[in-house]
Amino acid sequence: MGDVPTITLDDGVEIPQLGFGVFQVPPEDTQGVVEVALEAGYRHIDTAAAYRNERGVGAAIASSGIPREEVFVTTKLWNDKQGFDSTVREFEASLSRLGMDHVDLYLIHWPAPAQDRYVDTWRAFERIHSEGGARTIGVSNFRVEDLERLEAETETRPTVNQIELHPWLQQAELRHWHEAHDVATEDWSPLGQGGELLQDPTIGAIAERHGKTQAQAILRWHIQLGSIVFPKSVTPERVRENFALFDFELSPEEMDEIAGLDRGQRLGPDPSRFS
Ligand code: NAD
Repeated sequence: MGDVPTITLDDGVEIPQLGFGVFQVPPEDTQGVVEVALEAGYRHIDTAAAYRNERGVGAAIASSGIPREEVFVTTKLWNDKQGFDSTVREFEASLSRLGMDHVDLYLIHWPAPAQDRYVDTWRAFERIHSEGGARTIGVSNFRVEDLERLEAETETRPTVNQIELHPWLQQAELRHWHEAHDVATEDWSPLGQGGELLQDPTIGAIAERHGKTQAQAILRWHIQLGSIVFPKSVTPERVRENFALFDFELSPEEMDEIAGLDRGQRLGPDPSRFS
């Protein structure tokens, strides 16, 4: 199953393009669910302090027998811990919950512009990175203006920005900014959280043509966009289904058809207002 491509981030760190997300996986179920994902072949897990399931992620990796360096682990700093000192403390707490001495990627979960603390928070991230606590550092839900402010006021550019992105919210402006500045795009809620997007008839027709499911067609679109993606499921069959993306390819016309579905429709919060 070693056929997941990797993306080389701007600082040389390699990240598997397909991973497994654990938002809304109940803490008590997380170890079992992540064990299923590791068994299916996933080697990249996306968690966050706010998901309250870092312990289960760490326990699953520890019990899997897979060497730690073969699994790419991301966690995120929650909004109420922004600021230099509290970030440094909270990062240690995340490591302790994960039972790890480092993570692969650490993200500021939201810019929370009303708090106006993400520049100081980022300076703490730079410290954590330089001390080896995180192999690479990035942000999530940052807008172009937030990225430009970090660029102007700090030394290190985030290697990734993890944003809401799916066929109904394609984020052209941010994607172009990322491309121009060598920031990798991570697409959250890639399946539109399993809602109506999965019934879209255009996607249905594309999926049928390839003998694949709607979910697989959508995830393949993310992969061909060049994004990093980590669908979530607690159903073992779907966990395996979402991993089977590398034996088919969407045509340029099919990529265009999906591009035409953009509605600018958010399912999650607006980063300008969320704090
Ligand atoms: P998702 O788009 O991955 O959708 C998950 C839901 O889709 C599942 O609960 C299930 O209902 C359905 N589903 C999954 N596989 C399916 C399949 N094969 N067939 C049919 N239905 C299927 O939603 P998500 O969990 O919100 O996003 C994925 C990950 O992105 C999260 O787990 C988390 O790691 C990350 N995320 C990050 C942020 C952020 O602010 N940074 C916000 C939300 C999510």
